[in-house]
Amino acid sequence: MAQPAVPPSQAARPRPAAVPLRVPVRDILPWAVLALVLGAALLYFVGAEQGATSLFAGTWVHEFTHDGRHLLGFPCH
Ligand SMILES: [Zn+2]
Repeated sequence: MAQPAVPPSQAARPRPAAVPLRVPVRDILPWAVLALVLGAALLYFVGAEQGATSLFAGTWVHEFTHDGRHLLGFPCH
């Protein structure tokens, strides 16, 4: 004899109402600011750390991020 896929005790049970997920802006704001600052620093080092806009002496930062620069389409050489 075949068994029902859903036991009779659970078949008539009402489903709980869907509750929308709350994401409080106050909780994620510091992380969003941190991500923005780190992203801007990363974008600077990949895209503009060269020549007159260079913060560090030498070309080691430029050489370290050189492949990323070309990958993202920044002008280089
Ligand atoms: Zn290059």
